[in-house]
Amino acid sequence: MSEECIFCSIVDGDIPARTVHETDAALAFLDANPLAPGHTLVVPKAHHRQIEDLPADLAQEVFDVVTELTPHVRSVVDADAANVGLNDGEAAGQEVPHLHVHIVPRFEGDGGAPIHAVAGERPDLTDDEIDAIAESIRSE
Ligand code: AMP
Ligand code: ZN
Repeated sequence: MSEECIFCSIVDGDIPARTVHETDAALAFLDANPLAPGHTLVVPKAHHRQIEDLPADLAQEVFDVVTELTPHVRSVVDADAANVGLNDGEAAGQEVPHLHVHIVPRFEGDGGAPIHAVAGERPDLTDDEIDAIAESIRSE
């Protein structure tokens, strides 16, 4: 728990949120500044900043809530699809330093973009360079 963390304050009930689902270890609430109707955030109740900080059982629980909730969120707002993801670290756009998964309902013709659009210019990598990255990840 972090005293200055807005999502810890929501978990503790110190500031209001539109909670939509709760388990022992995870909480889901509507984003206060939604990108689309039904934009939902799923957080671990315990304060963890990024993916690498999350214990495996908690990661499982958060992901279970995401998988359970996504179809319900979609159907409530009559969405055609959803983007599900998280900004893992400041350079990726993470503003609240308490891990949270975004469920963003999507609608045909809504003018949005796929997750492929989140990074900058595509890097010009050779097959050898891509192979080397794969090898490095495998051997970590
Ligand atoms: P991120 O950039 O991934 O850290 O996203 C933070 C998200 O939290 C943004 O979509 C905000 O609109 C949302 N947010 C910030 N404060 C609150 C709050 N008090 N209640 C609900 N959502 C919030
Ligand atoms: Zn927190």
